[in-house]
Amino acid sequence: MAALGMLVEPAKSELQGAAEDLKIAVQRMATCIRAADAAELGEGLIQIREVGIDPLEAVFAKGLRRFDKSGEYKADGALSAVAWVRERCNLSGGAAAERVNVARQLETLPQIEKALAKGNVGYQHVALIARAAENVGSAPVQKEEQNLLKAAQTMDPGRFAAVAKGFEHRVDAAAALLEANHAYERRYLHLSEPQNGMVRLDGMLDLEGGATLKAALSALMPPPANDDDRTPGQRRIDALVDLARRPLDGSKLGTVGGQRPHLLITASAETLLGLKGAPPAEMAGVGPIPMETAQRLACDPTVSWLLGQAELESESASDAHRQIPAATRRALVARDRDCVFNGCHRPAIWCDGHHLVWWTRGGKTALPNLALVCGRHHRMLHEEGWTLERKDGRWVTRPPGHRVPTNARSA
Ligand SMILES: [Zn+2]
Ligand SMILES: [Zn+2]
Repeated sequence: MAALGMLVEPAKSELQGAAEDLKIAVQRMATCIRAADAAELGEGLIQIREVGIDPLEAVFAKGLRRFDKSGEYKADGALSAVAWVRERCNLSGGAAAERVNVARQLETLPQIEKALAKGNVGYQHVALIARAAENVGSAPVQKEEQNLLKAAQTMDPGRFAAVAKGFEHRVDAAAALLEANHAYERRYLHLSEPQNGMVRLDGMLDLEGGATLKAALSALMPPPANDDDRTPGQRRIDALVDLARRPLDGSKLGTVGGQRPHLLITASAETLLGLKGAPPAEMAGVGPIPMETAQRLACDPTVSWLLGQAELESESASDAHRQIPAATRRALVARDRDCVFNGCHRPAIWCDGHHLVWWTRGGKTALPNLALVCGRHHRMLHEEGWTLERKDGRWVTRPPGHRVPTNARSA
């Protein structure tokens, strides 16, 4: 028969042999884990990650880097390396993109690649470092490679994520603001039509929105009583519905349990002054935030501040300084009536007293230095580069790119 030659088994490649050895090692591990007693199991699980999964991720990254560069994925009809990994390695789009980014960034981060290969640092930590390198470029990460690696080895990924983010803010505050603004654009809330007797809620919040909602919900969620058999998820959704009911019940808008939910921001004096290379401001519960966001929140008297160790004593003084006295607020509402931004007119109850010369730059909490603006427009002023000034009793707003120095504004 003519086809007989094709039945001859081709010689095994080195790679196929290694894959078979790996399979055998995995089977042996499975057998041992099945047989291990509870005391041994913990060590076994640690070994699976340190000797198995993490070093294999390093090998995967090295291979993927060469595969990516070669463009060989096109032979499979994939349009990109990410698409190929998603399709052929059974990963979600997000997980595939992360693997490709790790592969690309580790090329310039040899110490981190080596640590992953040896199982001295976890894959999740490495993915966070690669992400920082993608956002701010590899050069600043290379400079800090040793320090980031040390931090990664001593912290869980959650805490390390805040460190990596803080590093990004320090290196490139403008890029961090851009990323925060992109994240803000992706916010949404979807409420479904009723289905099977339920309404589905899903959405995404930017960091500040998330911190605000978390603070409000936790104020409405006292520790559960003994006979409270609700799940944490049920308690959270009940708190959200409680929150929604408040304004409808005639409770004061924005108050929870008689108090506005507090956001806490920690910042150094250098940060508030916007000095280059200053550590980023941090919002309790969500980590680093752009300096511009911190400066906007400085206009909000309900946000609490911790001004770095050295300035702790002056904290109450600073709070008193930016707090708008009731009489000033009344005069502000009487003068501006509603949001002063071009044709917005959102009512005063939804508006902040924005400081024209920012509070953080020495602006006074006095009527001539204040403007009533709604939350959306307040954000555009601080984070999106818009400017606002009062000229001959009229408000003038300018889009980004027409920036005037803040200290040139009339107060
Ligand atoms: Zn403001
Ligand atoms: Zn407005």
